[in-house]
This record gives sequence, structure tokens and C-alpha cells, in this order.
Amino acid sequence: MYDVDVFASPPAHLSVEARITTTTTGSFALVAPSASVSSGTDVEGLVATDDRGRPVVVQPAANGYHVAAPAGAVRFRYRLDFQNGVALSSTGAGLNETHLYAVGRGVFVAPDPAAYGRERPYPVIRVHFITPPGWHVVTAWGVDEDAYAPPTSGALFGSTLAAAPDYRIYRDTAGGTPFVLAVRGERHFSDSALEQVIAGSLRRASETLGGVPVPEVTYTSDLGWKGRTSGSLQGRASVGLIWEPGELLGLARTHDLFHETLHLWFGGAMDTDRWWTEGVTDYFAARLEAEWSGRPEDLADLCYQSLRNYQHIERDTSMTMDQEQRENVLGDNTTLLVYRKGMLAGLLLDGAIRRATDGEATLGDLARRMLAYARQAPDRRVSDARIRDYALEVGGPAVERVWRQVVAGTALISEADVTDALRAVTGLPVAAPAPIAKERKSLIGHPKP
Ligand SMILES: [Zn+2]
Repeated sequence: MYDVDVFASPPAHLSVEARITTTTTGSFALVAPSASVSSGTDVEGLVATDDRGRPVVVQPAANGYHVAAPAGAVRFRYRLDFQNGVALSSTGAGLNETHLYAVGRGVFVAPDPAAYGRERPYPVIRVHFITPPGWHVVTAWGVDEDAYAPPTSGALFGSTLAAAPDYRIYRDTAGGTPFVLAVRGERHFSDSALEQVIAGSLRRASETLGGVPVPEVTYTSDLGWKGRTSGSLQGRASVGLIWEPGELLGLARTHDLFHETLHLWFGGAMDTDRWWTEGVTDYFAARLEAEWSGRPEDLADLCYQSLRNYQHIERDTSMTMDQEQRENVLGDNTTLLVYRKGMLAGLLLDGAIRRATDGEATLGDLARRMLAYARQAPDRRVSDARIRDYALEVGGPAVERVWRQVVAGTALISEADVTDALRAVTGLPVAAPAPIAKERKSLIGHPKP
């Protein structure tokens, strides 16, 4: 049981108390939020006792603590400090007098999931929040409940946790799956417009990829800093969105929303290399947004925009997407091959599959095969070699050639390649627009590995 006490007045912090029952004597491992990554939180003053208040030895370990536990109950408490009042991104945390935004793995010191397996189930966890009066609590495990019960360790660490007095909460169903939308802050569009985009993204994605892979989805939308728009999937079922104040719901933002929804499948239900998880996700997001809005030119705009950004990446013909990922090249999504070339690779594969099959098959058929495999694969993992095999099955040698040149290789993607593929996908001639003066804002977040 975790009691999480939210102190919103300065110095804003959380005070967390937990009680864990163990059946065996000996040390056990607790994992803690990592101070080195962007969680935006620091654990201070962790102390542990047994049920009678006698101190228990706690030793710092690589990613948390080792607790020398007697059999029975161990109690521990800590203070969680926040580096920022407002989260810097959807994967970070912020707490001030008006709101809390955080991610489960940035908050909880909890038994290490690595120590549990099939035969030894993760401890049953319950979480109780104590917030300032009138605050609504939003988690992926429910909204405004007395106590939450994250069903798995993944759900405990992979949830958006948010609280504020002014969350506006909506419940709806789309694509056969219930979702919760919790929004705060003002923007230049209505909450129902946002809700419709989310519902549209769930509907289009489930039609294309098969049913929503989780029983319920939570979307949390909070205000961030100017220039810091960010979205990400936390765990398997929780989408956190941090948007600029005064945001417009233009094509860039609807595309982002489709992208985050698609992470329920790509990144949630299956794990692949980043060119697919980010780049092909971005392509599907553009295609499905265009189908949903009835504007094929949206797909063309986003693909040509991707092409312009890709042309500015100096390593575009010297490094493969796989190399870029392995060498951990940093940058925002306008400057990375895995995003920009990955999106174009999705388009080119989709075009090639449609041409090779006279429109009988699409990239969605390839994705469905991958998802079916991931359902029974260790760690939901689908390797590039397997994707290539499925691509060959779905579209034959012409698709394999695109794979060799663009996914596995470093052949330059030209404007004509993009125009041809767009025609194959939309059935319409879509010429490249004049170069775009204003580049797309960066979307910082991505699902954790
Ligand atoms: Zn992403």
C-alpha cells in the first residue's frame, strides 16, 4: 500500500509512505526513479522500519536500494522533490500550487519487477493519493478513486499521474474501447474538438490494425512551456500530452494525436526498432489523419515536410537508420533519420505493396502480421529481419527492393519517389508544394524502451 501525500505549497513535494509484506527473510531490491534521466524528480531521505518501528538496513544499489528485510512487514517512506513546477515534457514531472503532472516510474520506489517472474507474481499494489482539497486525480488505473490498484508492475511504473483542481474529465468509447480524456488549461479550441480527434484516431487505427490492444485508454492533457509541445505513451495504455499554452488544433497537432494513439500498437503492443516505432508510426498517423479528415493533401503535406527535413540531415546517404539508433545519435524529431526517413520508408513500402498487389494489400497488412507475431513473442519484440520476411510475403520482390534500398540501405529518397508513392496510396496526383518556410515544431516524447 502506498500513501502519496501531495504538498502543493512551496516547497512542493510528495511525501510517500509504503508498507510491503514479505514472506521470506533476506534482502530484497527496490527500484527508484532515475535521477539521471528526464523524470524531473529526486528521492530524498528514504528510511525503512519493520512493523514495530525498528530500523531496517537500507543500502543504495545501482538502480535503487537493497533492504535487509525481516519476514513480515517493512515500512518505508521518502520525500519526492520536483525539479520543475511545470513538466518540461510528457515524460517528465512538474508540481506546483496549481497542478501535479508525473509518470509512475518517476514517482515510485517499489519492488524491482526483475526479481519477479511467472511463478512469483509481483506484489499486489494499492495506491492512495492525499491531495489538496478539491483536486481531481487522474491515473491510467482510474480517476478520482479512493485507492487505485495498478494490475501489474508495468502499470504501476507506466502510468501518467496527474492531479489538479481544474481537470475536465470526459469519458467516451471509440474503436470498441472506452477512453478517458482529462484536460486542463485553455487553448484556442474546444475540449470536444480534442475528444473528436482522439476518438477518430482510435477508430481509424483499430480499423487498420485490429482492435485497441488494451481494455481502456487514458489521455491526460496538461499545459507546458512555450515551444515544449510533447506527447508520449506511458506503459501500454496511458497517453500523456503536454501542450503549449495558446495551442491551435491544426494539422501538426492532430497528426501528433494520431501518432500518440498509434503508439498503443507500435511501442505498446509490439516493440520494434525506432525507424518503425517512431517513423512508420508517423507515416500511419499522417495517412489515418488524412483518411479521417477526408483530406488526402494532409498526407502529402506531412510527407513532403518530412522529405524537406530528411534532405537537411547530412548523414542521409552515409548512415542507415539502424546505425543511427545504435550510435545513439541525439536530436529532435525533425533531425533524426529514424523519424524523418522512417516516415518516408513507411510511405514507400505502402506504395510498393499497393502497386505490387494491385491495391489488394497495404502496409496495414504487414503491420497486422507483425502484431499477430508480437502477441506471442518474447518481450513483444519483432526484429527487422522478421519485418523484412513479412514484407516479402505481403508484397513480393518489388517491396523487398524498397526495403534493401531505403530501410537496410542508404539510397537517397527523391521527391519523385515520394510523389509516386503518394499517388499509389491516395490514388490522386499530389504534387510537391513549394518548400515550407516554417518547420514543424518538435515533438520531444517517445515511448520508453
Ligand atoms: Zn512517438
